Amino acid sequence: MSLFGKKFECQACGMKFNSEAELRQHGAVHMAPKPAVPQGPSCPACGVSFRSQDELKAHAQQHHGM
Ligand SMILES: [Zn+2]
Ligand SMILES: [Zn+2]
Repeated sequence: MSLFGKKFECQACGMKFNSEAELRQHGAVHMAPKPAVPQGPSCPACGVSFRSQDELKAHAQQHHGM
């Protein structure tokens, strides 16, 4: 038993395509700039995330008087 078609799978999202060309074309959607994912420390008071401890500190001082 063999599988026909759709053997080109997108590594990023798992979508399957019939040809490499289609897969490549689809790949463009993953090249678009993504919204920044906050990965730094977050404010314990309001939950906002920052890129660095310094930014968090500045925020906490400004907004929460900490
Ligand atoms: Zn994809
Ligand atoms: Zn805050």
